[in-house]
Amino acid sequence: MTFGRDEHQWIPESDLEDMSLDTLAVRAGQIRTAQLEHSDAIFPTSSFVYGSAAQAAARFGGDEPGNIYSRFTNPTVQAFEGRIAAMEGGEKAVATASGMAAILSTCMALLQAGDHVVCSRGVFGTTNVLFQKYMARFGVETTFVSLTNMDEWQASVRPETRMLFLETPSNPLCEVADMAALSALAKASDALLVVDNCFCTPVLQRPLELGADLVIHSATKYLDGQGRCVGGVVVGPARYLDEIYGFIRSAGPTMSPFNAWVFQKGLETLPIRMRAHCDNALELAQWLEQQPEVARVYYAGLPSHPQHDLAKRQQSGFGGIVSFELAGGREPAWCFIDATRMISITANLGDVKTTITHPATTTHGRLSPEDKDKAGITEGLIRLSVGIEAIDDLKTDLQRGFQALQDETH
Ligand SMILES: *Cc1c(COP(=O)(O)O)cnc(C)c1O
Repeated sequence: MTFGRDEHQWIPESDLEDMSLDTLAVRAGQIRTAQLEHSDAIFPTSSFVYGSAAQAAARFGGDEPGNIYSRFTNPTVQAFEGRIAAMEGGEKAVATASGMAAILSTCMALLQAGDHVVCSRGVFGTTNVLFQKYMARFGVETTFVSLTNMDEWQASVRPETRMLFLETPSNPLCEVADMAALSALAKASDALLVVDNCFCTPVLQRPLELGADLVIHSATKYLDGQGRCVGGVVVGPARYLDEIYGFIRSAGPTMSPFNAWVFQKGLETLPIRMRAHCDNALELAQWLEQQPEVARVYYAGLPSHPQHDLAKRQQSGFGGIVSFELAGGREPAWCFIDATRMISITANLGDVKTTITHPATTTHGRLSPEDKDKAGITEGLIRLSVGIEAIDDLKTDLQRGFQALQDETH
């Protein structure tokens, strides 16, 4: 009979299966070396050594598992992959150098010339560029549709459609897609449903459980949560992830071990951060809705939101992004933004620090006036990525914006 436990051993897979997301966030994908450190070790090394020429041959030949080179595998990166896979409820995850590298790698691994993609119109601007400009060059055509219009999705699917791609909730208007309905359409069309889960994170929404085939993240946003580095990840079943991993190890958009370690630590606080983001965002959305200068608030947590019920069914929280429209267009919007003193004026989102931006001239500035119109990006629109500061301090800072508007008109 032996007592104690093997400290080097990762928590048994079977134990992890029964654990809740809050626990997985701090315990899944754990690494422990012979030093028995409590925090996760970091392995900043490009390559690994062997005990013998025969062992090197066995590793290269695939007869013995183990690391060879960090473009292929790295223990810190694998620890992050294991943790996010457990949190999303996916079989496997592959980390990438950025969120865009995750989207590109998914497309390169699973699509080929002649294939067709249907993509929601409101996706991240660079995702739009990737499909419209670069994938098109390699013979993959993309049709853009309204995120919430099922008829448009249905009508846009062709025999050669291989992928439906979307973000829900959308940026910046918080539109919500019905993932179960889109999953049924994808299955009937022999296409993959790929969901960019950047805004909700697995804490608020697990697309794989709703029928998505793959989940993509820009880890740069909430997964890190403190604006420190750029990274991405794809999560899903091994049959797709092995293909994506194959592309990544050949093309090289791998995540660095330093960044993987930062994201690994970021995940530990993700559940409590997301709850704080949601609480602050809901309260601000309700408060903004009462301001006479505000024409409209976009937040799925408000009963006034057209997909409020769907969001309630599909998400366990409404997220940290709140947008609102000031009557009068660009001038009052800029005046409002410039009058704040604490909130950061930046287009980044998902940070513990609240940020404010004018989508029409920043994140969506590239769009033509007609496309802005279609996407609902008006000149009076302001987007907040609500952080975790005290709610009263956030209101005080935003009140400076309203005060400036009043001073302008009097
Ligand atoms: C930022 C972002 C991306 C791109 O991620 P990077 O890490 O900047 O490459 C993709 N999708 C969404 C929704 C994003 O917000």
